[in-house]
Amino acid sequence: MIEVRFHGRGGQGAVVASELLAHAAFRDGKFPQSFPFFGVERRGAPVTAYARIDDRPVDVRTSVTAPDIVVVLDAGLLRRVPVTAGLRAGGLLLVNSPRRPEELAGLGPFRIAAVDAARIALRHGLGSVTLPIVNTAVLGAFARVSGVVSLDAVRAAIESFSPARQVENAAAASDGYTDVVTAEVGPIPELGPASPRTVPLVLPEDPVASRSSETLPTADWRSLTPVIDLGRCTRCNFCWKFCPDNAIEFDAAGWPVLRGEFCKGCGICAAECPPRAIAMRAEA
Ligand code: SF4
Ligand code: SF4
Repeated sequence: MIEVRFHGRGGQGAVVASELLAHAAFRDGKFPQSFPFFGVERRGAPVTAYARIDDRPVDVRTSVTAPDIVVVLDAGLLRRVPVTAGLRAGGLLLVNSPRRPEELAGLGPFRIAAVDAARIALRHGLGSVTLPIVNTAVLGAFARVSGVVSLDAVRAAIESFSPARQVENAAAASDGYTDVVTAEVGPIPELGPASPRTVPLVLPEDPVASRSSETLPTADWRSLTPVIDLGRCTRCNFCWKFCPDNAIEFDAAGWPVLRGEFCKGCGICAAECPPRAIAMRAEA
């Protein structure tokens, strides 16, 4: 039996990816199973989904804690979520990232594959720059590097069961199959601890009261980071004014500085900046 764990963010299609994988495996004559982990349901929040594939009916119903394959739909999660937990040495780690897989070697003694699924998704008009829908490009890559399902079955599953834009999603899967790159890496130190929270969570006295964004670091939600070009910046402070999470501050000279632990990557600052001095860049 092959056990697969998907890590993504709400809105990227991790749950749909696990379902499409199960449909594809069924088309290939295998016995699949897929189900999500229900956590926080909101766009941008970390999401987990599971799949099992076997030549015989799958009886086990627990979540996947010792996967053979881990699929990461958002490379920004690598620093914040222990995605490799339980992944066996020599297992497959497939990451949506523009980086070479060798650059991800520090994640552990795994077979590491990388595919720039965000670029593929945007090429096919799937999602937006702030939230590309990368699941089908990643599934195509999965077919190639895992050998667990065929590309034909993945494409057929997408054409039958993808919730929208079946033609574009099937094309994205084919591109993911073509573009994915794999590296073999040796034993390496484990992933370090998650980024420290610089501000402790403080519960309000009134449990129904909403909390200030000052007590809610939202960096975990982020898939894109604002990058400020100070050469174009006029120090107008619009980005500070419009940021819903108070994630912009100013240095002594009045230049804007990002408070990364509070930035959720919504892109409002980039949209509001008059001289277009802010670009939203994918987290590598
Ligand atoms: S992307 Fe910009 S507006 Fe949105 S939270 Fe981050 S700094 Fe604030
Ligand atoms: S909105 Fe743009 S120009 Fe104004 S301070 Fe922010 S980055 Fe600079």
